[in-house]
Amino acid sequence: MLTNVSPRSIADIANFHAHVYYDADRTRAEATTLHGWIAERFRVHLSPMYDTPVGPHPMPMFEVAFEVPLYGRLVPWLSLNRMGLSVLVHPNTERIRDDHLVQPAWLGAPLTLLVDGIPELSHNFRTAPVRPIEPNTTPTAIGT
Ligand code: ZN
Repeated sequence: MLTNVSPRSIADIANFHAHVYYDADRTRAEATTLHGWIAERFRVHLSPMYDTPVGPHPMPMFEVAFEVPLYGRLVPWLSLNRMGLSVLVHPNTERIRDDHLVQPAWLGAPLTLLVDGIPELSHNFRTAPVRPIEPNTTPTAIGT
């Protein structure tokens, strides 16, 4: 038994991201379909399709930003509907490097993130109020 560690609190998590990766030539159609399905079903902040890699993400992707209570519905739904695409689900806490490297859940094949640019800590996480996710979707589909 370890006595020098204690569990982190779920209250450390401000929200979650799911990054859905695709190949701009081979799997953009699947990603576009999934993007539309998510918009129809979940109140989230959905990014555009980024056809060129951005930040630590080594492939084209789109981002789904969502509040903690939605995890239990959205992540299982993604596991059923990701159409072979790799999905990175990571919490957003003060420890942003660990969020991407230690705490993430992968659906499908994991990718190697380009982490050189990610600092260990978010310097304004404690001082700046965490803004709630501002959904930009208006779900219309019944059920999920
Ligand atoms: Zn992210």
